Amino acid sequence: MTRTIHLSPPDVGPLEESYLIAALRSGWVAPVGPDLAAFEREVAARVGTAGAVAVSSGTAALHLALLGVGAGAGDVVVVPTLTFIATANAVRYTGARPVFVDCDPRTGNLDVALTAELLHDLVRRGERVRAVVPVDMFGSCVDYTALLPICAELGIPVVEDAAEALGARHGGQPAGSFGRVGALSFNGNKIITTSGGGMLVSDDQVLLDRARHLATQAREPVPHYEHRETGYNYRLSNLLAALGRAQLLRLDGMIGRRRDLRDRYAKLFAAVPGVRVLGEEDDESNCWLTSIVVNPGQAGWHATDLAAHLARHDIETRPVWKPMHLQPVFGAAEGRFTGAAEQLFRDGLTLPSGSAMDTGQVAQVLTVIGAFLAERTGASPA
Ligand SMILES: *Cc1c(COP(=O)(O)O)cnc(C)c1O
Repeated sequence: MTRTIHLSPPDVGPLEESYLIAALRSGWVAPVGPDLAAFEREVAARVGTAGAVAVSSGTAALHLALLGVGAGAGDVVVVPTLTFIATANAVRYTGARPVFVDCDPRTGNLDVALTAELLHDLVRRGERVRAVVPVDMFGSCVDYTALLPICAELGIPVVEDAAEALGARHGGQPAGSFGRVGALSFNGNKIITTSGGGMLVSDDQVLLDRARHLATQAREPVPHYEHRETGYNYRLSNLLAALGRAQLLRLDGMIGRRRDLRDRYAKLFAAVPGVRVLGEEDDESNCWLTSIVVNPGQAGWHATDLAAHLARHDIETRPVWKPMHLQPVFGAAEGRFTGAAEQLFRDGLTLPSGSAMDTGQVAQVLTVIGAFLAERTGASPA
């Protein structure tokens, strides 16, 4: 019996096991401890920020990051429509209103020129734009060279959703470090995992201290339980931080494996008309997920045809994110839309991208795709 090949399963082994057991035996099972502090230091060093605060999810990191730039009721926060729901949900948690912006059809990342137009328009209308939240889609950084000066000119803080992008770079600078604050995720499907977890990274020590305070029920530093404001129970546990430290040691190797996989997909599809690999030209991506975009008119088949074929062979795929402005929960959403995100949702397909795939599984996926292409194009399988 063949086992299912998943999209991006956790990649853990003996190193993670030894770190977890050591943390357990150290007695620091509580949500504080030496591994938590070390994990924060090590991630901050990797991202190149002055500090970091480890929390229970990437969503919690985004929520605290948005509170950190002052987002609240009556504010507007600009978010790409092509993202995972957490980016927009975190805006709502603060009471602010998400306003969506479409993506660059080439990269899937937010369309910088369109964002500039939208920001100027919102400011002209007297909206209080509290933040822009660029998302480094599938591990490829937004064009910060173009975006940051626009936000700086308008005095609008950038909160970088780098949930998918740890280890990626733009112009040599690490993902997570571009805004006033960045948010990382260590969910089970991300490039490194703590099974569930996240982190705020920033040079702004005041913002980080406040996030740490809010993440621990806003408990005042006195012997009894004293609280002046509403906090959250958002801290990451020491055990999970130990798991994260082991994963971080393996990050470069795992990026290398995902990149190799992307290169093999790119080679396989290079001669196929109407198919391109999303973000293929970005050599600073961490290659978290590899997606293809299929032009059905040129290819003669739809992305869903390949998805169905792979599903019959127990190989998991997934459509690219369904845009936020099409989600019932954000019905009648405001924003600027060009149709680019809708087209990527319709024509995109994310392929198995996990770093834990062994050579047999990689060969199996490539063979099954090769057979599909041979059948559809009449070419002989590679
Ligand atoms: C995964 C993800 C998040 C949320 O992270 P969790 O740890 O799952 O809460 C936020 N934004 C993006 C773009 C993500 O991919």
